[in-house]
Amino acid sequence: MANQTIKATGIVIKEIKTKENDKIITVLSKELGVISIYVKGAMRLKNKFHSATGLFTYSEFILFESRSSDLYQINEASVKHIFHQLSTNVEHLALAMYMSELVCEVNVPDDMNNEILRLFLNMLHMLTTGKWSVSLCKAAFEMRLLCDTGFRPNLLGCKKCAKFETEIFYFDTENGEIVCTNCWKPYDVGYYIAEMPTIMALRYLAYADLEKMFTFNLTGIPLYQLGQICEKYVLEHTKYDYKTLDFFKSVHIEEK
Ligand SMILES: [Zn+2]
Repeated sequence: MANQTIKATGIVIKEIKTKENDKIITVLSKELGVISIYVKGAMRLKNKFHSATGLFTYSEFILFESRSSDLYQINEASVKHIFHQLSTNVEHLALAMYMSELVCEVNVPDDMNNEILRLFLNMLHMLTTGKWSVSLCKAAFEMRLLCDTGFRPNLLGCKKCAKFETEIFYFDTENGEIVCTNCWKPYDVGYYIAEMPTIMALRYLAYADLEKMFTFNLTGIPLYQLGQICEKYVLEHTKYDYKTLDFFKSVHIEEK
């Protein structure tokens, strides 16, 4: 009896070369979430799956489950989109690799597979077209991914007095809450300053529908504050040692 095939549409977020010309790719897919696929001979340029299984290629795969392992095998694959610009900009590539490591680190709930795939694709679009700065893309991805995987902070108002708007809030990365200037006490250590534009941006990232999430922009000090908060928030709630984050920092040029 022939193996039953399964369709999966997704982006290749990691590739590991194995013996000879084979490789294992990790795909963030709409239907199955994060999966691993064994691709025989894919490193050869003439291989029919070479393009569709390239890093950061968005493809449609027809797969079958392997009997001997939890790796899928490919029956058919076709390219839907290649983010060509990524390979020409090391800073963009480094961010995409960090985004991939984050996706592999968090637990993506089944009902969020499609949402997180769309987030990833949209973010690569914003990044490679320059619609958002590299720093904003990084912070936005960090915060939204955490929100979508069970760590949405409470940004509606001060956790003590519920004030919605004030000149300066303090963000508590450990508990995912904000405190206003009046309620903040000097012994509240480990809080990050967030001016009103920073809070507004955070609210967009945490609460807006994905289509509307990309309609704001941020620069200057508020962007710097957002970057600090989102990175700390990710490190606090996942793990601390992302090799791809170190690499990103080594090539990242801070925007003015
Ligand atoms: Zn307050």
